[in-house]
Amino acid sequence: MNAPQKTPALDFPAFAKGLYIGGDWRAAKSGKTINVTDPSSEAVLAAVADAGLEDAAAAVDAAAAAARGWRQTPPRQRSEILRRCFELMIARADMLARLISHENGKALRDARGEVAYAAEFFRWNAEEAVRISGEYGLAPSGANRIIVDYQPMGIAVLITPWNFPAAMATRKIAPALAAGCTVILKPATETPLTAYALADLFAEAGVPPGVVNVLTTSTPGPVTNAMLADPRVRKLSFTGSTGVGRALLSEAGKNVISCSMELGGNAPFVVFDDADLELALDGVMVAKMRNAGEACTAANRIYVQSGIHDAFAEGLAKRMAALKVGEGVDEATECGPMITRKAVEKIDRLVSDAVGRGAKITCGGKKGEGTGFFYPPTVITDVPDDSEMVREEIFGPVAPLYRFETEEEAIERANDTEYGLAAYVFTRDIGRGLRVAGGIEAGMIALNRGLVSDPAAPFGGVKQSGLGREGGQHHGIAEYMEAKYIAASI
Ligand code: NAD
Repeated sequence: MNAPQKTPALDFPAFAKGLYIGGDWRAAKSGKTINVTDPSSEAVLAAVADAGLEDAAAAVDAAAAAARGWRQTPPRQRSEILRRCFELMIARADMLARLISHENGKALRDARGEVAYAAEFFRWNAEEAVRISGEYGLAPSGANRIIVDYQPMGIAVLITPWNFPAAMATRKIAPALAAGCTVILKPATETPLTAYALADLFAEAGVPPGVVNVLTTSTPGPVTNAMLADPRVRKLSFTGSTGVGRALLSEAGKNVISCSMELGGNAPFVVFDDADLELALDGVMVAKMRNAGEACTAANRIYVQSGIHDAFAEGLAKRMAALKVGEGVDEATECGPMITRKAVEKIDRLVSDAVGRGAKITCGGKKGEGTGFFYPPTVITDVPDDSEMVREEIFGPVAPLYRFETEEEAIERANDTEYGLAAYVFTRDIGRGLRVAGGIEAGMIALNRGLVSDPAAPFGGVKQSGLGREGGQHHGIAEYMEAKYIAASI
């Protein structure tokens, strides 16, 4: 009988070869580096290059040099290259999942889910790359033809957060490449190794040098502003907090750069009396606990109608208390650590504030001591509406419950936020479900389910949760294309 295969240890420094510019790996001009830490063990995994302004200029030069060749590459060829990126990601799925789990801390099962989701953006956009078509029609006056051609915008700067290090990158790179744009990816400083592991597979997949460039920096503000000030850059796609998004929008305004913004969320999760209780509990565990609550779509305010409230609260506390907390890479872990100690302190502050105002903790509620940035799965009931966690993203494994009486009240309270990303509704009454889905101000509604994300569907927010959409049949690619209208007399 064969002995069980031992999983090889990851060589983290091997992913930190330097900045990826023009198909080459190079050190930052300053020679400086940034340490990458494992949030489970607090061990330093590797040190990545710390790009400055000269490196950013070199990345824009490389993207510009590759732009013409890439936009002239036939769609079928672009499609096949994207398809190879998908295949290589799947072939390396186990390694990528373990890498994500180490540098982000998320449970391996969540990391595996992320890799599958991230890879799907390459497959989906490979299929879409050959379906970009224009329009042809007769002007109403009959004087001329109206021809509309869709063209790549040009060089795109892509900025991503740490909570989905692979998926947030591929959700931008894949449609940009399908559209014919060249890109510079600036991943989050906390999770750069995954981005560099992706960069490693691009050349192998046949992505020409300079089409994708990756740089990490400890000074994202000046480095990004310098790239946005370069007139060759025509697109900014950002995923991150609303605060940074606002600052980038005003910076991009100086050169009138097209912006796609995937920003923060404050998702309401609404459970009506007639909901299937077990289904709603299954749903809230996904909506709240995927990535240990570190998701922009995470259920942040759980509104439960009074008739089902107590049974729901009891069921949720039971499920949350049973979750196994541990190191991300441990196969048994269901809830890994938070990204940083600062994140744990923020969660602790929000919980203390709610408790100080009269909320009751029914499970968890006490931050971890010792090594790693841990916070336990927590359920809080009777949270007053003036608590800070009603307005702020918790971004952690804390489920606050609020009681409501009527449908109108549920919609009104769900909408009482500056955000509008995702929302969840549980009811057996399909008419009510669709009515409430129509009334809630959010870009995405999950009806009787805890997950909305799908590369085949348009992902994005309204209000201060963002501008534009990623994924979907045409939405994702359209963000990287300009419509060119030709008035033709024939
Ligand atoms: P963040 O805004 O702090 O950072 C996001 C990225 O922006 C990082 O790469 C960071 O280095 C960079 N950055 C920071 N300051 C910058 C500046 N001045 N100029 C240019 N770039 C700058 O967000 P985060 O803490 O990494 O991620 C969590 C946030 O992201 C949450 O608010 C979450 O809701 C949001 N998010 C949204 C989506 C979505 O699709 N809407 C998805 C995931 C995360």
